[in-house]
Amino acid sequence: MFKDNDFLAFTLANPHGAAPAAFTTDTGIEVALWDTGILCLTPANPGNKDIVLSCGVHGNETAPIEIVRDLAKAVLDGSLPLAHRLLLLIGNPPAINAGKREIEENLNRLFSGAHSKGDGQNAERERAKALEAAVARFYHERPDAGRQEALRLHYDLHTAIRGSQHEKFVVYPFLHGKPRSKEQVMFLAECGVDTVLLSDDPTTTFSYFSTNEFAAHGFTVELGKVRPFGQNDMSRFKATADTLAKLVSQRELVLPAYDESRLNLYRISRVINKQSDSFAFTFGEDVENFTSYPKGHLLATDGAIEHRVELDAEAVIFPNAKVAVGQRACLLVARTQLD
Ligand SMILES: [Zn+2]
Repeated sequence: MFKDNDFLAFTLANPHGAAPAAFTTDTGIEVALWDTGILCLTPANPGNKDIVLSCGVHGNETAPIEIVRDLAKAVLDGSLPLAHRLLLLIGNPPAINAGKREIEENLNRLFSGAHSKGDGQNAERERAKALEAAVARFYHERPDAGRQEALRLHYDLHTAIRGSQHEKFVVYPFLHGKPRSKEQVMFLAECGVDTVLLSDDPTTTFSYFSTNEFAAHGFTVELGKVRPFGQNDMSRFKATADTLAKLVSQRELVLPAYDESRLNLYRISRVINKQSDSFAFTFGEDVENFTSYPKGHLLATDGAIEHRVELDAEAVIFPNAKVAVGQRACLLVARTQLD
């Protein structure tokens, strides 16, 4: 069905409404295409993990799309065994074809029902609904007998526009007081993702949706800088691709013991909102995420207001002075530990 087992090429050639289809590979894996870019893979005797890997929620973030393409190819051609149920999602195929982050609206702000708020309807809102339904179906289709002990995982893979002092980092969604998983953090460290930002608010991202509605271990994983197809140095993604391959192919994945010295853990210390049109940062537009400043340093001015570093050190992430008045201009983060 997929020429050269290339799920990505098939998806980009059929960016809307691909007809559902199913077949079994030579190695006995049931393959079900549920919709465009939505592929469910079930081995004959699945292990205890239900794994969702998503990519291309932002269409121009190509490296994760290539990682998922290569993983799908290896499973389909039998070179990589499959030990667990696996759902592969290529988030926004029309945006990938256009080489753009989005067509009309940021898909990663449309989950947990945000797709149905307000009057607007567009392709990204429809897609958010379809992706939510696919995740729900995938987690619910596991036979009852195994559902209780199944470990639900969702890694939503991205790359970032802005450079970062920590090349690879993960946003760990707000868990409403439930404990964070040290095992998951070590898994991510094995993927080369050694920096963790602990979110402390509900949000409308894909990974928050899976953690909040299905008690999955879900993460927004930022793997480096955005580049066009063919211009990614895939050696920079090798640890991630290799560790994801181990995850899907090994019944029991042995992880190192928790070791905080391998990690950079951050919590959100403050949100700076833009209060007037005269808002301006003191640093340039190209400042890297996680750039740290000392206590007292002037970060931004907003009319008569001065925003200065209040803790011994705070780092800036996702700064954007061009947001509308009243919106978030940046987050400040500070070092923390896991309890
Ligand atoms: Zn992204």
